[in-house]
Amino acid sequence: MTKPEKPPVCDYEGSDYQTVFWEMGDREYEDQVEALALSRLLPKSGNLMLEIGAGAGRNTTRYQAIEKVVLVDYSATQLQQAQANLGGDDRYIYVAADVYRLPFSPGIFDSATMIRTLHHMAEPQLALQQIRFALQPGATFILEYANKQNLKAILRYLLRRQSWSPFTPEAIEFTELNFDFHPKSIRHWLKQSDFTITRQLTVSHFRLGILKRLIPLDILVKMDGLAQLTGNWWQFTPSVFVATSAIGKTPITPPDKIFRCIICDQSDFETTPAAFVCRACGHEWPLKNGIYDFRLN
Ligand SMILES: [Zn+2]
Repeated sequence: MTKPEKPPVCDYEGSDYQTVFWEMGDREYEDQVEALALSRLLPKSGNLMLEIGAGAGRNTTRYQAIEKVVLVDYSATQLQQAQANLGGDDRYIYVAADVYRLPFSPGIFDSATMIRTLHHMAEPQLALQQIRFALQPGATFILEYANKQNLKAILRYLLRRQSWSPFTPEAIEFTELNFDFHPKSIRHWLKQSDFTITRQLTVSHFRLGILKRLIPLDILVKMDGLAQLTGNWWQFTPSVFVATSAIGKTPITPPDKIFRCIICDQSDFETTPAAFVCRACGHEWPLKNGIYDFRLN
């Protein structure tokens, strides 16, 4: 596999995002409608799931039907928060890695999720290709993306309060390394990366402060739950969930060889207390406090 040039990465190292955005930010509505969408799309069972952009593990406990979950984040401090939140369960494997250079053997996972993460990618298609490589044919991949063609952006554009068009295919970078994408572009990139779309759910129809204040949370969540079901027909919400299935061929790796050295592509390692040592090229990948570190500086 050819190694892409390394695009910039949005790094949450040392960030208090989990606390500020989710716990203090009045985002219970967003959290619950995401949980509902996930419950509709997740596979009923599975052996090994790849969770890209796991952060502090907000969604990880929703993957109970899967035997083991590999949590990937670029930030080791986010993974430490996930460890603290999830406890010392050996169902979870923590990996600090760059999505553009994933350290996994081909075809090792039978499912994957990437929620609120593509949002930070300047090269979304490169990331999708990396994920596809790590999946078995037939694996389920659930992707959430931020939709530039949302109702608020359309209204602002029509009222001339916003210069960029929500209808054109290019991504909009509204602050550094924060991108909204057009649904057509996402579908095109998924297809090009050997994913076939099985279902789309539109999520967060009522993400407006005034509605959140006026309407009780459980009713707002139920209303969103109904509106989500129109997601295959049109997408005008700020967030869209896409369930896909991996198609095409991938070599299947024996299940005990999860990792692949991103320098030499081999999957043969020796474990020491402090490192995972590649038997082929000798590179030592640190293993610190239960977190495998496959980042290249
Ligand atoms: Zn190596």
